[in-house]
Amino acid sequence: MTRDLHSAADLTWPEFRDRLGQTTLLVPLGAVEQHGYHLPLDTDNVVPTRLALALAERIDGVVMPSFQYGYKSQPSSGGGGLFPGTTSFDGQTFISCVRDLITDLARQGQANFLFLNGNYENTYFGIEGIDLAVRMLPRNQVKVLLVNWWEQIPIGDLQEIFAGQFPGWEAEHAGVVETSLMMFLDPARVLADRIEPDVSWPLATYTVLPEPPGLVPPSGVLRGATGASPAIGARIFGYLVDRIEAIIRREFTP
Ligand code: ZN
Repeated sequence: MTRDLHSAADLTWPEFRDRLGQTTLLVPLGAVEQHGYHLPLDTDNVVPTRLALALAERIDGVVMPSFQYGYKSQPSSGGGGLFPGTTSFDGQTFISCVRDLITDLARQGQANFLFLNGNYENTYFGIEGIDLAVRMLPRNQVKVLLVNWWEQIPIGDLQEIFAGQFPGWEAEHAGVVETSLMMFLDPARVLADRIEPDVSWPLATYTVLPEPPGLVPPSGVLRGATGASPAIGARIFGYLVDRIEAIIRREFTP
């Protein structure tokens, strides 16, 4: 394997030191979560990590090792917590990890951070960790962005790509978008022959704890992934890289 000089994990400490404070650090936020019968448990890591590596090439940034675990999947916005393999941090833990990463790297001299999130449920716990870190540090010592990748592509574009069949983000869990992205990024790990026929399942509109069974279909996928393709994945991926690059250049240009 060759070294990727945009990946912090591949750098020696003097190489990393020379980048501190000189570049944007990109931190993928993922999850270990069921993604139906056809996608791997680390899908929510693969997408933001590959986006981060592509962005780091564009902006000469550095990608930190990702947060492999995330906050808990909810039945109303994913697959829920009842599937074997879905393994999550408590909110408090996730918040603390985000806060600690920022404050420790700030101590080393880093100023610009972009958290690239791949799991919807991480969003407000990530923001809370960022906010706590920013409030702990001297004013303007750091600047931190959190980007949910799925918010960077307009719904109108998705309706055009999927010929009006995009079901909406609330139903997109291992659906057409994630499956297309994985077909493009990591085809050997997509089990296309196990994609379930399209289902129509009423989405949960309120929360019950402990979570009762049956709120999501047995496969764990809220809507089918029929219509996903590597070509669509490539198109969406390219769009996202362009869009997030523009955000980085806007926010981190002095
Ligand atoms: Zn996912």
